[in-house]
Amino acid sequence: LLNGLAALNLVILVVGGGLSYLLARRTLRPIQDSLEAQQRFTADASHELRTPLTAMRSEIEVALRSKLTAAEAKQLLQSNLEEIDKLEQLAGGLLQLAQTDPTKLRGEFKPVPLKLVVQEVVRQLKPAAKTRQVTVQADIDEVSVLGDRASLEQLVTILLDNAIKYSPEKSTIQLSTDIGSKNVAVSVIDHGRGIKASDLPYIFNRFYRADPSRGKEQITGYGLGLSIAKIIAELHRGRIDVISTPGHGSTFTAVIPTVN
Ligand code: ADP
Repeated sequence: LLNGLAALNLVILVVGGGLSYLLARRTLRPIQDSLEAQQRFTADASHELRTPLTAMRSEIEVALRSKLTAAEAKQLLQSNLEEIDKLEQLAGGLLQLAQTDPTKLRGEFKPVPLKLVVQEVVRQLKPAAKTRQVTVQADIDEVSVLGDRASLEQLVTILLDNAIKYSPEKSTIQLSTDIGSKNVAVSVIDHGRGIKASDLPYIFNRFYRADPSRGKEQITGYGLGLSIAKIIAELHRGRIDVISTPGHGSTFTAVIPTVN
C-alpha cells in the first residue's frame, strides 16, 4: 500500500509540476512577447537615431581637419540642417507614438463629426498638396464617430500625407465615406506608385518602409505613420484596410464605428 501511495504521489507531483510549468509559460508568453517587442522597438529607434547623427559627425570631423571656404562651410551647415530635419521628424513620430496611449484616450471619447475632421486635415495639408500640384477632393457624409478628435485628425493626416507623398505630381486624391449599419468607412484613394503585394503585410509595422521609399526618388519618412494610424483606428474599435495595385495607386480605408 505504501509503495502504491508513493508511486501515486510521484505521478501527481510530476503531472502537477508539468501542468504548472505549462500554465506559467502560457501566462507569461504575452509579457515576454511585449518585452521582446519593446526591446526590438528600442533597438530600431536607436538605429534610426544614430544614422543622421553619424552622418553629421563624419561631415563635421572631415570639415574640422581641412580649411573650409565660406561656400563650403555654408554647404556643410546646409547638409547638417537636413540631418537635423530628419532627427526632428523622427523625434516627432516617436513622441506621437508615445502619446497615443489607449488607457488615457478611451475615457474621453465624444461624438466627432467626420466632415469637420477631414476639412481640417485637408486645410492643414493644402500647402503640401500645392507643392506637389496634387488636387485633393473630399466628399464626406454627415456622420459622427465616437472618438478623440485630435487622434482622428492625426489618423486622416497620416493617410492623406502618405497619399500626397507617394502620388505623382498633378494627380488627384479622393477622400470619401461609405456609411454602413454600424461603421463608417473613410477612404483615401490615390493614383500613385502603389505597394507591392509582398510589402503589404508589413507596411503597418513600425519602421517598415517599402523598397521604393528607399529608392532613387528619396521620400522622407521613418515608417512610423501607418503604425500610429493603426493604433488610433484600433483604439476607436476600428481597423484600416488597404487595397493597392503597383503603378496604379492605393486605397487606404479606415473603418470606424459610428455613434448610434
Ligand atoms: P513613411 O511614409 O514615413 O515611410 P508609413 O508608416 O506611413 O511610413 O508607411 C510605410 C510604407 O508604406 C511607406 O514607406 C511606403 O512604402 C508605403 N506607403 C504608405 N502609404 C502609401 C501610399 N499611399 N502609396 C504608396 N505607398 C505607401
